[in-house]
Amino acid sequence: MLAAEGVPLAQIAADIGTPFYCYASGAIEAQYRRYAEAFADQDARIHYAVKANHNLAVIRTLARLGAGADVVSEGELRRALAAGVPPDRIVFSGVGKTREELAFALARGIHQINVESEPELEALSEVASSMGLRAPVALRVNPDVDARTHAKISTGKKENKFGIDLGLVHASAKRAAGLPGIALEGLAVHIGSQLTDLAPYRLAFSRLAELVRELRAEGVGLRRLDLGGGLGIAYRDETPPSLADYAAIVRDATRGLDLALSLEPGRALVGSAGVLVARIIYRKAGATRSFLVLDAAMNDLIRPALYEAWHEIVPLAEPRPDAESMPVDVVGPVCESGDTFATSRMLPPLAAGDLLAFLSAGAYGAVMSSSYNSRRLVPEVLVRGESFAVVRPRPTFDEMLSQDAMPDWLR
Ligand SMILES: *Cc1c(COP(=O)(O)O)cnc(C)c1O
Repeated sequence: MLAAEGVPLAQIAADIGTPFYCYASGAIEAQYRRYAEAFADQDARIHYAVKANHNLAVIRTLARLGAGADVVSEGELRRALAAGVPPDRIVFSGVGKTREELAFALARGIHQINVESEPELEALSEVASSMGLRAPVALRVNPDVDARTHAKISTGKKENKFGIDLGLVHASAKRAAGLPGIALEGLAVHIGSQLTDLAPYRLAFSRLAELVRELRAEGVGLRRLDLGGGLGIAYRDETPPSLADYAAIVRDATRGLDLALSLEPGRALVGSAGVLVARIIYRKAGATRSFLVLDAAMNDLIRPALYEAWHEIVPLAEPRPDAESMPVDVVGPVCESGDTFATSRMLPPLAAGDLLAFLSAGAYGAVMSSSYNSRRLVPEVLVRGESFAVVRPRPTFDEMLSQDAMPDWLR
């Protein structure tokens, strides 16, 4: 029987019902320690990219080990603060921060704001000046590097909306240096997510290092380099680069530059530490295909529909040793053909009522869930040793309905 640390997943299912996400504290902590260890000999801080999994308990698990946070909205910033991340360990990224969000971040005294355009630079300078402050800024550079990952999670090509074009960074840096509300501290880059190849990193980091040298030569003193996140995990047969090799690339690219480095891993810290557990509602034999209809759907885990992502699916109960696997389509109950988790997946014989786990679902799973089809938001559970806690409960139907309001004229 599949377990999260010392807790059988079937026991949690019996307790709180399905579907649910479950995260293992030990796996999250171990992965953070591996990351920190790999960079121990460099002046590098780890800012956990909160968007991968923003549950307060998950953020706090990492914050307790010393992790900072990378946030992309006021909501995430509030989550990081509420989870106990000190403001001076928080970096604010994102292509469209509003003045209100910038003011909130400045008022809290966060470590760094990664600016993605000149209009944002000017807005930030105005906001900071009006507060009598200078905003600590890194300019996010678009290094025009192909991360060779899924198109929807590639962010470092010049046609992507992210960052300031390589050729415009010099002008932007000089502009920044002349603005009263800006303290230009460094450069930032993030080229995409689920990278399984180090070559794009090598190229991007060397371009950034070159820019630092050029700008310093032009009198723009830079002290920090934020290298983003994006390191992939194994969902199927990928072999993500080792942390040691990744760290070596960072070391090589930044050698001799005397820069304070930031890293922003999201998926790599939490992705492999989580599963989504679902129950089979029906086993349906069509004319040409066989379907397992689950009580989890695309609203709970959208990665297969959005990114053609592959998640390993395993029955919680050990199949009989003589059981022969058969191809089945694993689907949810939502009224969309896209609500398909897997097609022709080889699985042992399973019946209605059986439990399944989607592996490597700790990142970009629960955070992207919705209540589409008026399905209740999927709950989250955190396990530590023999204990587990519901860290986001499943709302009641009343709670779900009470989110709406009736206008006067319909009362
Ligand atoms: C999404 C994001 C990350 C984290 O990406 P992962 O692939 O989860 O490591 C880091 N930095 C920025 C700016 C991001 O947008």
